[in-house]
Amino acid sequence: MRLDKWLNDLKLCSRRESGKFIKQHRIVVNDVVMTNGKQHISPNKDVIAIDGEVFASYEEQLYFIMHKPAGVVTATTDRVHETVIDIIANEDARKDLFPVGRLDKDTEGLLVITNDGPMAHRLLSPKKHIEKVYYAKIAGEVTAADVKAFKAGLEINEEFTALPADLTILSSGDGVSEIEITVFEGKFHQVKRMFIAVGKEVTYLKRIKMGGFSLPTDLEVGEYRALTEAELAQLQ
Ligand code: URA
Repeated sequence: MRLDKWLNDLKLCSRRESGKFIKQHRIVVNDVVMTNGKQHISPNKDVIAIDGEVFASYEEQLYFIMHKPAGVVTATTDRVHETVIDIIANEDARKDLFPVGRLDKDTEGLLVITNDGPMAHRLLSPKKHIEKVYYAKIAGEVTAADVKAFKAGLEINEEFTALPADLTILSSGDGVSEIEITVFEGKFHQVKRMFIAVGKEVTYLKRIKMGGFSLPTDLEVGEYRALTEAELAQLQ
């Protein structure tokens, strides 16, 4: 956009006065002194300073994928527990980063961490029904009747009936089961509450997919890395 328009939109002073700001060489963009209001600037990318005070600065967008360990809370700060943001080594980046969505303290698995608010908003929008896949160990024998009930949409309580979910039994016998479940919403304790509704208990939970991309097999518990270009494309 034009420098004079940006300056007027800031409403720091009258239009005439803002012209003077430029003539008096009080505006510096990316260390270059501006001399003409017609010059073009990119407020989201350029570092724009008036009398030495920075008014706009490009914030680098950061995207990480983490294999969240159990015992760590999905929050930016916590007075008692370690948070997923505490795991990020770059102290400077940490202050802007936040987790996209939430995993329980005892849940492991795929978590996206970013400073890109609009992207997080898109990914979490309830209207989009982004799919999330979990692997779980269950105390109790999961049956074909459970698979059918999950597919029909389980009534959890008076206020909440879960959307239909795909449940796959990986193994079941001797009072324990391993399953994979795909849900299309992200309510509080969703998977655990669905199993409680059929009289069973989740004893281990791990998210392995979210919104079309998977927990990398080479990412150990507690590790994280920047998203690749291909993974980023999945988030857009
Ligand atoms: N469902 C749960 O019950 N817990 C999680 O952490 C994620 C989904």
